[in-house]
Amino acid sequence: MLFDYHMHTPLCGHAVGHPREYAKEALRKGLAEIGFSEHNPMPEKFDDWRMNLGDFPEYLKLLTEARTTYPTLPIRLGLECDFIPGRESWIRELAKKAEFDYLIGAVHYIAPDWDVDNPLKLDRWKQQPVEEVWTRYFRALSQAAQSGLFDFLAHPDLVKKFGHIPQGDLLPYYREALEAIATSGMAIEVSTAGLRKEVGEIYPSAQFLREAFRRNIPILISSDSHAPGEVGHEFSRALALVKEVGYRELTSFQKRRPIKIPIS
Ligand code: ZN
Ligand code: FE
Ligand code: FE
Ligand code: ZN
Repeated sequence: MLFDYHMHTPLCGHAVGHPREYAKEALRKGLAEIGFSEHNPMPEKFDDWRMNLGDFPEYLKLLTEARTTYPTLPIRLGLECDFIPGRESWIRELAKKAEFDYLIGAVHYIAPDWDVDNPLKLDRWKQQPVEEVWTRYFRALSQAAQSGLFDFLAHPDLVKKFGHIPQGDLLPYYREALEAIATSGMAIEVSTAGLRKEVGEIYPSAQFLREAFRRNIPILISSDSHAPGEVGHEFSRALALVKEVGYRELTSFQKRRPIKIPIS
């Protein structure tokens, strides 16, 4: 019943292992299907942590090699696309470059030169209050939802990655994004990647997830693997959380169509 749609390849420059090795680990852990979601290429040199546009055919080839090695495991084609205001038409162009099963929308950039999860930019946190960073992050997440470009959103509260969290109730930060996501019909990821980061917590927080459930926002569970050993990482913990919140189904995708998977 479980599947993992968020995994990377060496083409982004900060992940290791052939997709074949991720597939092998998925079978070992009993996953029903997997999907790759490399950081999307940009038309120009943009930063140093995404696949180059010229490597896109290689990306498709790596997946084909994994499918050939493990023909019983469905391996979906996705991309993790940065939502960057003003660059929406590029995502539309990318979406036509292959028959994608899903596009993940991700907010990493909260300013043109600040990818908020980048450990090399931790100094930036000292230049403004945490409240302002959170406000900016969730405003961008709302815009990503409103764009209608994506099938689901990655790591919904990634901004907490290093443990920078405002005091008090966090719902005021979440609310606008939750409303935008609910209106869009998009799903969100429950990502175990946060457990491997400084914050030591699933993305999103239990409060965010409860509010998402109240608004009928669909979910799926993913690992954001950057190494084969991370595939399906701590999925039992994520599953326990989503069941406790009240979820009874997950959402998978084929050719950008959502499919409801009952939680057994
Ligand atoms: Zn990455
Ligand atoms: Fe990401
Ligand atoms: Fe990722
Ligand atoms: Zn990611």
